[in-house]
Amino acid sequence: MKRIAIIGGGISGLSAAYAVEEKRRSGAPVDYVLFESSARLGGVLVTDRVDGCLVEAGPDSFLTEKPWAANLCTQIGLGDQLIGSNDSQRKTYIVVQNKLVVMPDGLMFMVPTKILPTVLSPLFSWRTKMRMAGEWFHPPHQAAVDETVAEMVERHYGSEMVDLLADPLLSGVYGGEASQLSVRAVLPRFADMESKHGSLGRAMLAARKTMAAAAKAPAKPLFSSLRDGMQAMVDALVARLDGSALKTASPVLSLIPQGDGWTVSAGYQSDQFDAVIIATPTHAAASLLEAADQNFARELNAIPYSSSVTVTLGYDGKVRRSLPPGFGFLVPRSAGRRMLAATFVHNKFPHRAPEDRALVRCFLGGARDEQILQASEEEILAIVRHELRQILGKTLDAEPQFARVFKWKAAMAQYSVGHLERLQRIESLRQKFPGLALAGNGYGGIGVPDCVRSGTEAVDKILADMGMWSAAS
Ligand SMILES: Cc1cc2nc3c(=O)[nH]c(=O)nc-3n(C[C@H](O)[C@H](O)[C@H](O)COP(=O)(O)OP(=O)(O)OC[C@H]3O[C@@H](n4cnc5c(N)ncnc54)[C@H](O)[C@@H]3O)c2cc1C
Repeated sequence: MKRIAIIGGGISGLSAAYAVEEKRRSGAPVDYVLFESSARLGGVLVTDRVDGCLVEAGPDSFLTEKPWAANLCTQIGLGDQLIGSNDSQRKTYIVVQNKLVVMPDGLMFMVPTKILPTVLSPLFSWRTKMRMAGEWFHPPHQAAVDETVAEMVERHYGSEMVDLLADPLLSGVYGGEASQLSVRAVLPRFADMESKHGSLGRAMLAARKTMAAAAKAPAKPLFSSLRDGMQAMVDALVARLDGSALKTASPVLSLIPQGDGWTVSAGYQSDQFDAVIIATPTHAAASLLEAADQNFARELNAIPYSSSVTVTLGYDGKVRRSLPPGFGFLVPRSAGRRMLAATFVHNKFPHRAPEDRALVRCFLGGARDEQILQASEEEILAIVRHELRQILGKTLDAEPQFARVFKWKAAMAQYSVGHLERLQRIESLRQKFPGLALAGNGYGGIGVPDCVRSGTEAVDKILADMGMWSAAS
C-alpha cells in the first residue's frame, strides 16, 4: 500500500484527496492522509446563510468555460445544484467621477468588438476612441520577452484603457495590478492573438465568428455556481472522503525527504509517506521545502500573493429598487477609492436573496491596499458604507439589515512578469524529488476550476512517479 500525504485542505487539496479516493475505490493500492492547519476544510470556500440570504465569503462562482469544477460537481452528485449567472441582467459599470458608467456592449474582457456602442459610450475619451479605431490596423507583433498587461493594453489602446478597464478587471480577478501581472501568464490568449493577428479587436471578432459557427447549442452562462453556495462543493467532497484520513487543526510543520519517501511532521506527530502533494499557497509550500532544497523554497517564495477583504451587506426592498440593474461595478484606481468592486448579488444570482432584499458584495484590498487587513471590521464597514453612499447615492444611507466581513490574508497568487519561466524552474526542481507534486492557485490558474484541475493532475503525476498509474488512465 502506497501512502500519500496531502497538505492543505482547500479546494485544491480536497480535489487531490477525492482523486486518490477514487483510485483507491477502483482497486489501486493507495491510501492518503490530508492535513489542514485550520479547524475547517475548504480554504477560502465559505458560505454563510443570513436572514434568508446566501453570503459567499470567498469565491461566489466560477467561469463556465473552464470545465473542471463543474465536472467535479457532477461527479460528486451536485449536478442538479449547478446554476448559471443571470446573464440577461449582465451589465457592469465603471465608476467615473462618482457616477456609474456602463461598460459598452461588445467589450470582450477589455477588447471592443462593436463599433457603434463603443463610439457612443461616454466611458472613453475621443482620444481613446481614436486609438481603438487605429488598433484595427495593428500588424502582428511577437513580444520578444514577457511584459505586463498594462504594457500590452497601453500599446493597443492607450493608458486610459489600462486605468478604466484592464486594472479594475484584473483587480477583480487577481486582486492584482495590470502594471505587475504577466500577459503571458494571465492573458495568454491575448499574447497569442497579437502574434497572429496584430489587432486584438480583429482577432476577437474572428474568434467569436468561429465560435458562433461551431456552437449549435445556445450560449452558456458566463459564470456557474451551486444553488446552495460554493461550500456545498466542500461538503460533498468531504462526504465522499474517508473521515479518518482528514486531519484538521493539523498544520504540517516540517517535510523531510527520507529514503524513497517523506517524513511529514504535524504537531507532535511524525509519519512516513511514499509521496506528498503540497496544496497550500506557494509561500507555505516554500517554508515546508526549505529544509529539502533552499533554491526550490526561494522560487516558490518569489511568487507574490495579495490579500483581500469581502464585505456583504443586506438591505431592504427599498434599497433594491433604487439600485441599477446589472451585476455590479468596478472601481478604477483613478477614482481614489478603497473599494475595488461591488456585486449586486440579487441580480447576478437572484435566488441568493429574497425578492424584498438587496445583497451587495464589496471587494477591498488587493496588491495596492494590504493595509486594509489591519483595519477593524467597524472601520472596514464605515469605509464601505461611505463609498457606497458616494457612488450609489442617498438611498445607501439606509442602515443595512446585516453585514458580514471576511478577511483573506495572502490568499491570491499574483502571476507577475516571468511567472511562466519561474514555473519551468519550479518544475525542474520538483523533478529532483519523485513522489512530490504541487497544487494550488500559485501555478497554472487562480480560479476554482484551475485549482480543481491542479489537484487532480497532482495525483496523476505522483501515481505515475510511483509507477502505479499512467497520467492518462
Ligand atoms: C475573496 C476571494 C474571492 C474569489 N473569487 C473567486 C471566484 O469568484 N471564482 C473563482 O473561480 N475563484 C475565485 N477566487 C480564487 C479561488 O477561490 C482560490 O484561488 C482557490 O479557492 C484556492 O484554493 P486552494 O485550495 O488552492 O487554496 P486555499 O483555499 O487557500 O487552501 C489552502 C489551504 O492550505 C492550508 N494550509 C496552509 N499551510 C498549511 C500547512 N502547513 N499545513 C496544513 N495546511 C496548510 C490553509 O489553511 C488552507 O486551508 C477567489 C479567492 C478569494 C480569496
